[in-house]
Amino acid sequence: MRQMRPLLEIDLAALCENYRRLAAATPRAEAAGIVKCDAYGLGAEEVGRVLQQKAGCRSFFVASSEEGAALRAALGSEAEIYVFYGPFAGALDAFRDHRLTPVINTLEQASLWASAFAGAPAAIHIDTGMNRLGLPLADLAGLHSVSGLKVSLAISHLACAAQPADPMNARQLKLFTEAAARFPEARRSLSSSGGALIGEEFGFDLVRLGVGVYGASPLDEGDPIVKSVARLSAPVIQLREIGRGETVGYGATFAAERPTTLATVAIGYGDGLLRSGSGKAGAVLGGAYCKIAGRISMDLIVLDVTDAPHAISIGDPAEFFGPALSIDEAAKSYGTIGYELLTNVGGLARPGSGLGGRVERRYLWGRASAAERPPGAEGN
Ligand SMILES: *Cc1c(COP(=O)(O)O)cnc(C)c1O
Repeated sequence: MRQMRPLLEIDLAALCENYRRLAAATPRAEAAGIVKCDAYGLGAEEVGRVLQQKAGCRSFFVASSEEGAALRAALGSEAEIYVFYGPFAGALDAFRDHRLTPVINTLEQASLWASAFAGAPAAIHIDTGMNRLGLPLADLAGLHSVSGLKVSLAISHLACAAQPADPMNARQLKLFTEAAARFPEARRSLSSSGGALIGEEFGFDLVRLGVGVYGASPLDEGDPIVKSVARLSAPVIQLREIGRGETVGYGATFAAERPTTLATVAIGYGDGLLRSGSGKAGAVLGGAYCKIAGRISMDLIVLDVTDAPHAISIGDPAEFFGPALSIDEAAKSYGTIGYELLTNVGGLARPGSGLGGRVERRYLWGRASAAERPPGAEGN
């Protein structure tokens, strides 16, 4: 019998396939891998290595210099590693020691970098309307008077890449094109996974591929290009029948309207399945999509399996997202997006696992066996 704990299986072949498909949308641009937040919870070392060795990815972006240092150790000296947060006083050594390239977001960072490492290449982030990180357009002129600053890459970030028809995309494209022209020596990068799908003119020299590589749709309306990568399942540990009028779980929020079969599964909000999915989300079990009955507990979830066509046994895996239930559909039922569901669950998962991480993270190359897919379930 399988181990009685949640399992996060990560199909690295599907991940490489997603990288290739998204990269093909902008064939003239280099495709960089975004591996911040431990590769969206799927493991930056493993993901970085497989993208480098099997998919030919040469450039990577992380958020912090700490992430960059760890990634350098995993990838060796060849990879180009960019750090979105840029340099801060007191953390310059990490950039030198691990050969990290900063993304400069302020004039202060530009001066700090150029005075520490004159002539060393740096990326700049030009803010074209996101108002989150990056140099406001008004500060760009100031960059030219920072002596020793060598801008090798100019990036910006789209606010509405998930909605290709939003007029904000065209506005940012125009602002970026004009602003980047002030740095003719620099390569240019505007788009994340979503932007890369809007049109080839959004590709420039480099696209920054994140969520789509990890198997969640970069577009709000869904995206047929992306294959499922991560599968979250947990085993049934108890089965029971209840009568009409009986209730389930904390707060007794589910009341059976008919004789009901319940399956209790070894997973909960402590494993990253947001409690907001109580009574709304579900899992594929016994050949059907079964809804959660009542509230999600810390390490238990009860599924209403009354209508499941196949017999269910102790130890059977219920799939909370994966090939049989797309991460985007699942995320919606928890009131969130694929990004958050992945980082929540993946962030708590560990290789092996035990105390301090209940979800086991396991890597596969292709799927050992085709997942059971009930009629009508989403996913690919
Ligand atoms: C996270 C991030 C990306 C990747 O975005 P996805 O939507 O996951 O592809 C690209 N660029 C910047 C600046 C980011 O913060």
